[in-house]
Amino acid sequence: MNKIKVDLFSDTGTRPSREMRQAMAEAEVGDEQLLEDPTVNRLNQMVADLLGKEDAIYLPSGVMANQIAFAVHCQPGDEIIMDKTAHPIHYEAGAVAVISGASIRPVDGERGIFQAEQLEAAIRSRAYHEPQSRLVSIEQTSNLGGGAIWPLKTIREVCQTAKKHGLATHMDGARLLNAVVATGISAAEYAEFFDSVWIDLSKGLGAPVGSVLAGSREFIDKAQYWKKRLGGAMRQAGIIAAGGIYALENNIERLKEDHENARYLAENICKYPEIELDLKTVETNIVLFKVKGIRASDIVEGLLERGIRVSLMGQELIRAVTHLDVSREDIGYVIDVLGELLS
Ligand SMILES: *Cc1c(COP(=O)(O)O)cnc(C)c1O
Repeated sequence: MNKIKVDLFSDTGTRPSREMRQAMAEAEVGDEQLLEDPTVNRLNQMVADLLGKEDAIYLPSGVMANQIAFAVHCQPGDEIIMDKTAHPIHYEAGAVAVISGASIRPVDGERGIFQAEQLEAAIRSRAYHEPQSRLVSIEQTSNLGGGAIWPLKTIREVCQTAKKHGLATHMDGARLLNAVVATGISAAEYAEFFDSVWIDLSKGLGAPVGSVLAGSREFIDKAQYWKKRLGGAMRQAGIIAAGGIYALENNIERLKEDHENARYLAENICKYPEIELDLKTVETNIVLFKVKGIRASDIVEGLLERGIRVSLMGQELIRAVTHLDVSREDIGYVIDVLGELLS
């Protein structure tokens, strides 16, 4: 494979900086399974405070955060309502069927966002031949929605509808902090109406490993059992948790550079006649665009030959994700190469 110079494949590609590695090397540690790792405990407290929840639990991945939350909220045979583009439907290896045994009811939202009326319509009646609607899950920001931000008003309405029908509420906040930086609305405000919510430390925040799931003390107590059951309980995990603490202390505000770079990319490539891209859809660090009259796979390959990696999302659709290892000059290079490939 060619050497990759600019990696716009995903914000998971971020590598820990020197300073982050230093903080990790010096972390105080203990046995995390006994809840005795001081660094993990500190990270959990930081995230609980950030999200306005009673307690939090450090986990090895975001997938585990979703799956543990679903397992705590649902019994086998229950139904979880989420947008048709949601991560657990497409990218979690069918884990919902295996771990919680729940089924999923996809909702036909717009760029990953659905409305309270759509939720209302998807909630089952209490007939014995129907699965029981148990949980609604939303994704902030929506990944396959191109980084679209759920407006606070929509969140409030959806959660009110859920509560009216006795459903639990979950937020997959893999990129919640991107929404926070883009809008100025706090993480706690976004999280307020959810029974469970998590953030990913290993995406734009730049830590190498981990997510933190937050909720009530009772919820986290149940989540501890699931973490152990799934083999997610660790030992001296303070080493990796320290990367997460460093990320929360240093890398939140800078997410706005990623958003500016995404916008700069979008503004420049939307001038190419073969590219279809509505600038209004670029809200955070993800740029989704279509190419017309030329195969998207040819563009993806052409970019790769010149050291630029993006993802092919469909026959015409390409995704580029900005993050802390991508500079403004890198974006300039991408704009030029794309222009050459199209001309
Ligand atoms: C990346 C992602 C996940 C999974 O997180 P991992 O840390 O990769 O396991 C879940 N949901 C969304 C929306 C994501 O983008």
